[in-house]
Amino acid sequence: MDLIASLDRKLTALDEQSLTRRRRVVDTPSAPRLVVDGRPMLAFCSNDYLGLAAHPLVIEALREGASLYGAGSGASHLVSGHGRAHELLEERLAAFLGPHLESARALSFCTGYMANLAMLTALGADADAEIFSESLNHASLIDGARLARASVKVYPHADLDALAALLEASNASAKVVVTDSVFSMDGDLAPLPQMLALCEKHGAWLVIDDAHGFGTLGPHGRGALEHFDLRSSNLVYMGTLGKAAGVGGAFVAAHASVIELMIQRARPYIFTTAAPPALAHALLASLDIIGGDEGAQRRAHLQALIAHLDGELTPSRWQRPVSTTAIQPVIIGSNAEAMRVGAGLYRRGLWVAAIRPPTVPVDTARLRITLSAAHTHEEVTQLATALNELERTWDESQ
Ligand SMILES: *Cc1c(COP(=O)(O)O)cnc(C)c1O
Repeated sequence: MDLIASLDRKLTALDEQSLTRRRRVVDTPSAPRLVVDGRPMLAFCSNDYLGLAAHPLVIEALREGASLYGAGSGASHLVSGHGRAHELLEERLAAFLGPHLESARALSFCTGYMANLAMLTALGADADAEIFSESLNHASLIDGARLARASVKVYPHADLDALAALLEASNASAKVVVTDSVFSMDGDLAPLPQMLALCEKHGAWLVIDDAHGFGTLGPHGRGALEHFDLRSSNLVYMGTLGKAAGVGGAFVAAHASVIELMIQRARPYIFTTAAPPALAHALLASLDIIGGDEGAQRRAHLQALIAHLDGELTPSRWQRPVSTTAIQPVIIGSNAEAMRVGAGLYRRGLWVAAIRPPTVPVDTARLRITLSAAHTHEEVTQLATALNELERTWDESQ
């Protein structure tokens, strides 16, 4: 009984700080219009930025993949789980990003979380290596850096001078700079061209987590690499396949030697069952769309929606930091107020995620609006109108 009571005390403490999280049950495929806990809702929370998760061609490819390769992979990649579809997916990704990397090769993973653990433990394997990590990095990068033997230095958000000083002072055997490209809770972009110049000057790796850029940025959807036209053998690129690509999984693309080292040494790669090959097969269809005309049209529509929200949403009590990406935060401040705003929208049939610490810094609890190419202008207007009205009629004492 004491064991349970001590857990319950922790849970009560979370509840008192408005930090309890709850899951809602969605009955319908990923789309702006969902049925949530039995109720129709208009959602602005998914990372399905191009609306591919429920795309008929991707669904059909998943069916076909299951017929061709069965339901599961049966083993890890280094035993018998590396299927033809995984191999084709990796070849396709390496060719897609090849223009930006030297001797490009790609390695697929079940999730981005695993990919980041594998990449950082491989590059930061030695105790005399150093990882330079941006302060707003995703939890999976923070955990990857912790799991690596390298020492870790955190530099402030987008602070190039601080990063330059740390690199200058370092005599590590391997220097690894790691950053989100699009910050997942703010939507802003890291200054990647300047960071790459610094990395080249100091002989450091630049590891880019492009979870929110792959598929959405660049004329062909090649993400931050294409958006900034980055080209270097110092680049190590991580893209996720469960966001804009609409399926699941992730990959690392880099010089073939980086990939070979990960296959040989990265425990989060070696000691886990390969993803079902049918997912890789579905991803080939998704990549066809991303790299083709339809992908370009979807990206253009998404950009138009971002501009539209910008014009319609005009908060004064709450802060709206500049973001040119599909991630559009509204900073509320306190946890309790953010939860109340989220609940107010929810009562109006609008679902937007309220994000609290530790996902974001204390006192910056926020609504994280995410737009998708599957939204319409009218739906964006509906959200902006509801949020503007909630603010206008806001009652502190409520
Ligand atoms: C979502 C995300 C990940 C993790 O990817 P999964 O495939 O969901 O595990 C890693 N980094 C960033 C920045 C993300 O937003």
